[in-house]
Amino acid sequence: MQHVLPPLPYPEHALAPVLSAETLAYHYGKHHRAYVDKLNELTRAPSLSDLSLDQLVRGQTGVLFNQAAQVWNHTFYWRCMSPARISAPPALVNAIANDLGSWASFEERFKTAASEQFGSGWAWLVRGLSGKLEIVTTDNADNPLRSGATPLLTCDVWEHAYYIDYRNERKRYVEAWWNIVDWQFVARQLG
Ligand code: FE
Repeated sequence: MQHVLPPLPYPEHALAPVLSAETLAYHYGKHHRAYVDKLNELTRAPSLSDLSLDQLVRGQTGVLFNQAAQVWNHTFYWRCMSPARISAPPALVNAIANDLGSWASFEERFKTAASEQFGSGWAWLVRGLSGKLEIVTTDNADNPLRSGATPLLTCDVWEHAYYIDYRNERKRYVEAWWNIVDWQFVARQLG
């Protein structure tokens, strides 16, 4: 199958000033597109061309996994954001309170995890194997699906996600990013 770059859920300028149109032009238009193009190059063989993106993320290793997971992760990341300032529905607030103590504790722990992830990677809210919500971080392209968890939310903390707008100040990016999370989308991932 041919992997395609999914359309952004909003125009490139829609997340400004939190994320500029220039950041989206590069992050979506160059980085994400390059992962899709490279994945298509790597999956030309008949034994690989029938596998879905999910199958590639769950079952492959090395360079093929890296490209597939970066396509998956970025597609999910764009969907986790909205220009509409969407507040969290009660079902999500309650699930967070039950499993992570309180919304304030969740917010603080997620922001800290994203800010302090060493090097390139991702911060996630996931439903873990136990069924409870958890905050985890992954290195580089890695994805929680690999350990059986269900992703609900992710923040890209590779430098390419924030360097144009925030330079080295990842913490400031994470603080601002929090305000454009689409909490309805996150709640829908609860299933
Ligand atoms: Fe990225």
